[in-house]
Amino acid sequence: MALAFDEYGRPFIILKEQDQKTRLRGIDAQKANISAGKAVARILRTSLGPKGMDKILQSPDGDVTITNDGATILEQMDVDNQIAKLMVELSRSQDYEIGDGTTGVVVMAGALLEQAERLLERGIHPIRIAEGYEMASRIAVEHLEHISQKFDFGASNIEPLVQTCMTTLSSKIVNRRKRHLAEISVKAVLSVADLERKDVNLDMIKVEGKVGGKLEDTELIYGITVDKDMSHPQMPKQIEDAKIAILTCPFEPPKPKTKHKVDIDTVEKFQTLRLQEQKYFDDMVQKCKDVGATLVICQWGFDDEANHLLMHRNLPAVRWVGGVELELIAIATGGRIVPRFQELTPEKLGRAGLVREKSFGTTKDKMLYIEHCANSRAVTIFIRGGNKMMIEETKRSIHDALCVARNLIRNNSIVYGGGSAEISCSIAVEAAADKYPGVEQYAIRAFADALDSVPMALAENSGLQPIETLSAVKSQQIKDNNPHYGIDCNDVGTNDMREQDVFETLIGKQQQILLATQVVKMILKIDDVISPSDY
Ligand code: ADP
Repeated sequence: MALAFDEYGRPFIILKEQDQKTRLRGIDAQKANISAGKAVARILRTSLGPKGMDKILQSPDGDVTITNDGATILEQMDVDNQIAKLMVELSRSQDYEIGDGTTGVVVMAGALLEQAERLLERGIHPIRIAEGYEMASRIAVEHLEHISQKFDFGASNIEPLVQTCMTTLSSKIVNRRKRHLAEISVKAVLSVADLERKDVNLDMIKVEGKVGGKLEDTELIYGITVDKDMSHPQMPKQIEDAKIAILTCPFEPPKPKTKHKVDIDTVEKFQTLRLQEQKYFDDMVQKCKDVGATLVICQWGFDDEANHLLMHRNLPAVRWVGGVELELIAIATGGRIVPRFQELTPEKLGRAGLVREKSFGTTKDKMLYIEHCANSRAVTIFIRGGNKMMIEETKRSIHDALCVARNLIRNNSIVYGGGSAEISCSIAVEAAADKYPGVEQYAIRAFADALDSVPMALAENSGLQPIETLSAVKSQQIKDNNPHYGIDCNDVGTNDMREQDVFETLIGKQQQILLATQVVKMILKIDDVISPSDY
């Protein structure tokens, strides 16, 4: 701090910028960073696996989220430490690339950081640790490839895919109905997948939810849903082979503009005007019928008289449909949005195999299902559940299941879960460590220990003794030379994950190891932290 005077002689204080900042250097910086990363990983550790705990998160505006999805927990946590943010980013990348394994990746990174801390204390340079980790991750990724298996499925044999999605769902809150939800997810993915090109466009799957009903009422709709109902209660509730006119123009007689003046001074004049209006609308209805429309979907509303007439002329209609939904309907049904009534032609009509109105329970809520659309394979997963939180969590779980099915279609290699793949990698990495003469050897061994933390967390979360369980499984793997032994979280009676049908995609597991290593390397290479001192 220094005192100075301006040109009028008034004193002012100069604060050097450095004074306001705290600075950590060298080993202190690394240690501070590691403990920040570890703190985040510790939070997620208890959420891992089928017996993992859920977290409740409240946003500043009071919204409550209950979840055990790693990416969502971190997303909603308000962290302001830079390193903690890196961990959040890590989980997000796993979610973005793979869609599943978001908790596992953070637990793995946390374990790597913990091991690195010990090595730092023993005086090993962070760069050597980073290099050792890099080598070890390469060994682990190769080993995963080695123990992976091809996984056969086809459009007629979807059971294996369903099983994999069930593994993903078994650790979620919705696991009570995992078979039902897994089947829905697989069918949804298969209906938008191109099995030849091994490509899946997840954008074609819409996931919608409505509060009410039971989770098992969740259904797959081969088409789209619109949160609207027929404009008149007596209109048909079901239209087969619908030809749909999609209108963004008003579906009613033109209203006189404010500037115009209409003098109606006799009853006759009024009658004429009324008849004219009626005829005008009648002509509009006729025009729709002439082009062959059996359903009108309209962006605007129409009054009760028009509504009655539509019902009378047997032309079902839906009013007040939003622009976005209108566009969706047009894309799905292969129709064109008609902005001017005169432009309505038969080619512009959208087509759908079935349009039906569905009502829910005792509520007045109704929805329109537009199914078996002409042009598109778009499908909707329609979730029911007791409350909003449940629906939101189901949406997230289904997202994970959809991603797993998509990953398998892209690449059908799998590794077994329940920590078995990690244990097997740990054995392989440990064995490889001896071949390296340098200091990296220690880091490689530490990497092997870090891999063990995933099965340990699974065991711990299931109420088992972590160290005893892990060592028993590990020695069993070595004895039988079988990489399928993992942690029997659900107490099924066997720890052969192959028998339990617990598996994950190879690319997902490889990505977890690669991403976790990358972030830890990045954290280890930081040796100077400059931050504002009030932090
Ligand atoms: P993530 O967000 O990382 O997917 P989860 O909480 O879904 O985290 O837990 C996934 C872990 O739980 C994986 O290691 C998986 O192999 C394991 N797992 C899932 N189901 C079972 C099961 N029935 N028995 C043992 N382990 C399981």
